[in-house]
Amino acid sequence: MDSITNTKRKVYRFGHRQTDGDRTMRNLLGGKGANLAEMSRLGIPVPPGLTITTEVCTEYNAIGKEATVELIAEEVREAIKQIEAEMDTVFGEDKNPLLLSVRSGARVSMPGMMDTVLNLGLNDVSVLGVAKKTNNERFAWDSYRRFVQMYGSVVMGMKPENKEDEDPFEEQIHQTKEARGISLDTEFTVEDLKNLVVDFKKLIKERTGQDFPTDPWEQLWGAIMAVFDSWNGDRAVYYRKINGYPPDWGTAVNVQAMVFGNMGENSATGVCFTRDAATGANQFNGEYLINAQGEDVVAGVRTPQQITLEGSKHWAELAKLSEKERAAKYPSLQEVMPKLYQELFRYQNQLEIHYRDMQDMEFTIQDGKLWILQTRNGKRTGAAMVKIAVDLLKEGMIDEKEALLQILPEKLDELLHPVFDPRALKRAKVIAQGLPASPGAATGQIVFFADEANKFKNSILVRTETSPEDLEGMDLAKGILTARGGMTSHAAVVARGMGKCCVSGAGALKINYKKRTMTVDGHEYHEGDWISLNGTTGNIIDGKVATMEPLLSGEFAEIMTLADKYATMKVRANADTPKDAKTARNFGAQGIGLARTEHMFFEGNRIMTMREMILADTIKGRKLALEALLPMQRNDFEGLFEALHGHPVTIRLLDPPLHEFVPHQLATQKELAEDLHISLAAVKNKVAELHEFNPMLGHRGCRLGITYPEITEMQTRAIIEAALNVKEKGIEVKPEIMVPLVGTLEEFESQEEVIKQTAETVFQEYGDRVDYLIGTMIEVPRAALMADAIAQRADFFSFGTNDLTQMTFGYSRDDAGKFMSYYLEKGILKADPFEVLDQEGVGQLVALGAKKGRSTKPDLKVGICGEHGGEPSSVEFCHDNGLDYVSCSPFRVPIARVAAAQAAL
Ligand code: ADP
Ligand code: MG
Ligand code: MG
Repeated sequence: MDSITNTKRKVYRFGHRQTDGDRTMRNLLGGKGANLAEMSRLGIPVPPGLTITTEVCTEYNAIGKEATVELIAEEVREAIKQIEAEMDTVFGEDKNPLLLSVRSGARVSMPGMMDTVLNLGLNDVSVLGVAKKTNNERFAWDSYRRFVQMYGSVVMGMKPENKEDEDPFEEQIHQTKEARGISLDTEFTVEDLKNLVVDFKKLIKERTGQDFPTDPWEQLWGAIMAVFDSWNGDRAVYYRKINGYPPDWGTAVNVQAMVFGNMGENSATGVCFTRDAATGANQFNGEYLINAQGEDVVAGVRTPQQITLEGSKHWAELAKLSEKERAAKYPSLQEVMPKLYQELFRYQNQLEIHYRDMQDMEFTIQDGKLWILQTRNGKRTGAAMVKIAVDLLKEGMIDEKEALLQILPEKLDELLHPVFDPRALKRAKVIAQGLPASPGAATGQIVFFADEANKFKNSILVRTETSPEDLEGMDLAKGILTARGGMTSHAAVVARGMGKCCVSGAGALKINYKKRTMTVDGHEYHEGDWISLNGTTGNIIDGKVATMEPLLSGEFAEIMTLADKYATMKVRANADTPKDAKTARNFGAQGIGLARTEHMFFEGNRIMTMREMILADTIKGRKLALEALLPMQRNDFEGLFEALHGHPVTIRLLDPPLHEFVPHQLATQKELAEDLHISLAAVKNKVAELHEFNPMLGHRGCRLGITYPEITEMQTRAIIEAALNVKEKGIEVKPEIMVPLVGTLEEFESQEEVIKQTAETVFQEYGDRVDYLIGTMIEVPRAALMADAIAQRADFFSFGTNDLTQMTFGYSRDDAGKFMSYYLEKGILKADPFEVLDQEGVGQLVALGAKKGRSTKPDLKVGICGEHGGEPSSVEFCHDNGLDYVSCSPFRVPIARVAAAQAAL
């Protein structure tokens, strides 16, 4: 037995002679490595190779380059022997050299985030050997110039000096093309390629001061370490940040025998998807290039061709080409290499069934033989995610639970975004068309550089093509437009992953980075000009286009029904107006968890009456103003009860400090004085009186209702009268009155008494009753600690995790912006606790409060109504702590429903 079958191995092999890993080993081998091993096991033609584990990456960060080489050298050498045997070549040999690719691969796919080097092992001597062996001089030199280019960028750090500049190698390529009067890479002669190799090496020496390494082993160690380094490169760090992946996962390195798509007309490379990643349609699709290497398709070097005849016809139709023109200009792989297409079709089918999910695959055809280089669960839009899950379920490939678990709750958000209003689209001026790379509607102002995406509130990033460097800007922009690159280009894949609208490959655009212009059909657009993108059709539109709410698909409804079937926790919405309440019901909310009554006071001229109430000097004056507010509140509550039709409605009594309602500017103060027929000085006095040093900890919440019981009286009356009125119409009502900011049992009791008395009075007046509950928010830490006492009286608890977070951390929510981003950057906080519930700390109070409350009252109803109620990991936490419901903003209800179901599974 050879030495690398030891237990604590660092290198795993794959290939047809020996495969050590399998698909279950993603964490150790990375997604790419685990799947290469799995495909080898399935008998799919995969070039043999080895995977260096993610653990080595972590170790590398601690011990550095030389020690890492020492650590793995022996195992790597052993594994390379296997590759040599399978490929019948020798690594480092001159006449018959084994050439390698060095590829990164973390446990989750991070397309293009880390680096790859192809054709490694070539030098001035072995390139001649390859030329002779393959009898193809052009191929040998093309591979060599690609290798020098990639190694130069990835390992030796060559990059453009300014952002307006082109990549130094690409610039050299363009110059050569211009000098020779050609436009395509494929038109280079052997002489051209030889010159490029010399020029590239010279450039590298000039810029880096280093010689290009000639020893293949030196090349190999350099490339492996560069892949490890790329795990901590800017792109990967940012990608991890936006996706919340921890830095200690590390990346694996795959070293694999090269297969060549650039060997001539009988060779090709491509990318394909088992289903449509934009719409989810069950349609095999993809793109390929004849006589090219992997990166060419993704990087948008040439605009690729369609794999299927159907796809090719579709694009030709958009370009208004006849069938004859199509066949000449857009030949599909299905027509050009029908046998290989059939073989590819079989593998894609096999892999989708095997992985039971949509696959995104890479392949290369070397001189008439098909090789599969990668498979992974494909990135997709939110719409495609929902459709694919439902389709796979219907096809019997997965069961209901698996379908639910395929949904990334956050991605549902995309489906709820506005779309272009079809009426506005009819009038829109379409200036050009590209590929509908990622659906959606985007309107914004043009920027040409990713790091300037924040120049405007709504920007559209316009690029010739995007590169992984642009990730942050793509994330900030409202939409992405590229002149080059197909449906599988970097821009397209990343945009779909982000759920961002993208139009790619719009060949009619001429972009000039230096002048910051985009020219279409003779018209020049400048930075800051408004354009709109329709990611569903590929249309590029002049100016702004109006949008509207989206229509939700039948598949969306099916997923929601499934979610409710498996969720044990209910999902309610925070809604303050009948309109929001209706939206919430449409999204499937099973109640209102929080209606903030103060929001109602800002509508129309109600604020005047409210101010009158606040400014009143006597109880009598205050009562008069309250009487005027009563019918308005009652009306709102009736709207809520009607919209909810028998589902519970939790209404919170007045909460914010009163100074929020009075004017602070002189002009409005004057106006108020006139309206109320009092002096300006009186208004000013009152405003000054209401001033507090810490309003968040001041006269607010139940402290208001306790000091001004007439407010609680009026609000209770409005709630109970509304409930009785709606009940009268034959609609079931479930009012729940919620007392805010309670910290002691006595505070609660004081409000409870006012509420009960008022309700009884109203019942007598009406000669009718309704059932109602009186509960409290748990948002002051003391309330959580005293929950057993408070539960003696309260019918329900609702954790107000916004205030609870604020008071537990001692961070003012309104001032935390000053230090929060710094804290996040420095890792002092892992996530913003106002977005993601701090389970460790604040979570203890939630768990304790629920437990203590139920120790007094076992059937106490417990929910949560902070922003966290719609955040999937917080929803799971609530489920685990036995909460009855979460309540979140209406648009997050679908997300919370799926998260609740997933927590239950
Ligand atoms: P990424 O993770 O960014 O997709 P990959 O490691 O998959 O990077 O490699 C980038 C490109 O290089 C892909 O298009 C792939 O097909 C090509 N490639 C990788 N390894 C090989 C190989 N052994 N032979 C031929 N092409 C390869
Ligand atoms: Mg890849
Ligand atoms: Mg609060």
